[in-house]
Amino acid sequence: MNKNRQIHIEKVAENVRDECNVKDYGFQNIFEAAGKIGYRAIRYPIGNDSFLGFALIKDTERIIFSNSSLILSREIFSVAHEIGHQKLHLSEQGITIIRDDDFNDRDEYEIEANYFAASLLMPIEKVVKFIRLELNNKNSNIWNGLDIARIQTVFNVSYDMVLIRLKSLGIIDDILLDKLKFEKTQQTASKLLRVINGNVDLCKSTEVKKVPVEYLEWVISNYNEKLIPIKSLEAALNYVDLKAEDFENLSEEQAEEESFADLLRGMD
Ligand SMILES: [Zn+2]
Repeated sequence: MNKNRQIHIEKVAENVRDECNVKDYGFQNIFEAAGKIGYRAIRYPIGNDSFLGFALIKDTERIIFSNSSLILSREIFSVAHEIGHQKLHLSEQGITIIRDDDFNDRDEYEIEANYFAASLLMPIEKVVKFIRLELNNKNSNIWNGLDIARIQTVFNVSYDMVLIRLKSLGIIDDILLDKLKFEKTQQTASKLLRVINGNVDLCKSTEVKKVPVEYLEWVISNYNEKLIPIKSLEAALNYVDLKAEDFENLSEEQAEEESFADLLRGMD
């Protein structure tokens, strides 16, 4: 990725922050933010060893899916990464889906989406501002795990991501990075967060099942119009722990068509 492309990506990330009206250091709720800028954000716990997320254009919808079996800070990163794919790589005429099994792929698009996510979640000027105003410009050579945990909490990211970002911004070097990494393995990030009264939830998975209400309405109306069989309706509702009986006025006849359940199944 050349310098011009990096700057372009930083600008796109900054526009997303503006659009989402992010005034703090980090996103308070990136899932809501994704919805605010026009994406259908779907969260579902598909297991620790499953894929991390995908970005998809389906008909007129732009969808972002994240695996909520991951610890929250990683799921937040996934959403930021998928927003990157939506903004930078997907188009109605070109690629309409990118699925991520991991984020270590050295493919150009993956490097760009990671760069976008880092710029979106931890913009350079915000990192510098935090170090100056909140860490009182403390010399990075005497930083410890607690300082990293503080940065982690305000930016709502993982401990590891803070280290990677600080390293890539040239704020810490390899020696310090290894020292701070070692401190984490000694203490674990959640203990560090607890000490500073930080957001311990970042280290747990949420297992959230969040499907936009429009999808449920869409599935139910498809069913009512006899476009999908009751089994598809049940499968779709099952994703969010609902049952067909929970809804009134559902008709009973059936026909074949796509549903949210098939959409997800297609990703396996
Ligand atoms: Zn990706």
